[in-house]
Amino acid sequence: MRILVTGGAGFIGSEYVRRRLRSDPRTRITVLDKLTYSGVEANLAPVGEYLGLTFVQGDICDPDVVDQVMAAQDAVVHFAAESHVDRSIDGAGPFVRTNVMGTQVLLDAAHRHRVGRFLHVSTDEVYGSIGEGSWPETWPLAPNSPYSASKAGSDLLALAYHRTHGLDVVVTRCTNNYGPYQFPEKVIPLFITNLLDGKPVPLYGDGRNVRDWLHVSDHCRGIDLVLQGGRAGDVYHIGGGTELSNHKLTGLLLDAVGAGWDRVEQVADRKGHDLRYSLDDGKIREELGYEPQVDFAAGLAATVSWYRENRSWWAPLKERAGLR
Ligand code: NAD
Repeated sequence: MRILVTGGAGFIGSEYVRRRLRSDPRTRITVLDKLTYSGVEANLAPVGEYLGLTFVQGDICDPDVVDQVMAAQDAVVHFAAESHVDRSIDGAGPFVRTNVMGTQVLLDAAHRHRVGRFLHVSTDEVYGSIGEGSWPETWPLAPNSPYSASKAGSDLLALAYHRTHGLDVVVTRCTNNYGPYQFPEKVIPLFITNLLDGKPVPLYGDGRNVRDWLHVSDHCRGIDLVLQGGRAGDVYHIGGGTELSNHKLTGLLLDAVGAGWDRVEQVADRKGHDLRYSLDDGKIREELGYEPQVDFAAGLAATVSWYRENRSWWAPLKERAGLR
């Protein structure tokens, strides 16, 4: 199978590529990645020797580059995006450009080249916030941040290409991912690396916002199940099954590195901060046999160890991005 993986040098995309090549070395993967601040080509070094891997540095918004890499692909797995909510609050332009317009360029090319399947990777954040219960896939979209609004736009475009052009599109929406190689601006790696460096950690508001945590390897397994068995034109949720308030998560991270609450700095809450996200992922469990395999306590401990052992990966990234 020949797969175009966009954003394959990022956190989740690179996990997908490493996992896929190791489990099926006959797969031919072309990674298209612009290498923005969060893209790291070295994330693919562990599978750099695989003959099936081709890396192309390029922008999904560039129709010429996209046209070249799309030719002869059997499938697209589309991760490339601007992905950090805080950055979208500071400036929404790159989010609309990459997430909406870039997705449209990819969809057009996939349709033109008659690609067999287009899997669009999205997020629970497109639904807004929910006090109680969990969203099914049929829930109306009500995004609150420029990031989630741009992802909702790209989801709707992808589904429209299925309805209008008959392109075989599937959309996945997942909860918060964690694991190795996550850019250290996101809460888990930011807190771990700050704590390892003896620095304070910034907790938004009172820390009562609730997120469900999904190990990146479980997410990528779910993506492959949908790629292989999902119904064209359908949306599938991928959840982790571990809902935690940010306060509780902070306590677990402090315990993991042996630090106390004196290291926590309460900072002004994020503008428009969604209180709770919760996906009902019964559909992928029932139809495709998905179940998360990584226990959260074990996954978090392994993630802390990975950051402890890979300072040479994250320290230069934090330095370059001016993260404190
Ligand atoms: P990331 O920021 O780590 O990686 C994004 C990758 O896309 C980077 O390698 C970057 O260089 C590349 N990229 C950005 N703009 C590009 C462009 N114009 N052209 C080509 N490449 C470009 O993000 P991530 O956390 O790996 O997220 C991947 C996908 O998963 C995104 O679509 C995101 O919305 C979705 N998602 C992430 C999470 C999460 O918890 N991280 C949760 C739900 C959904």
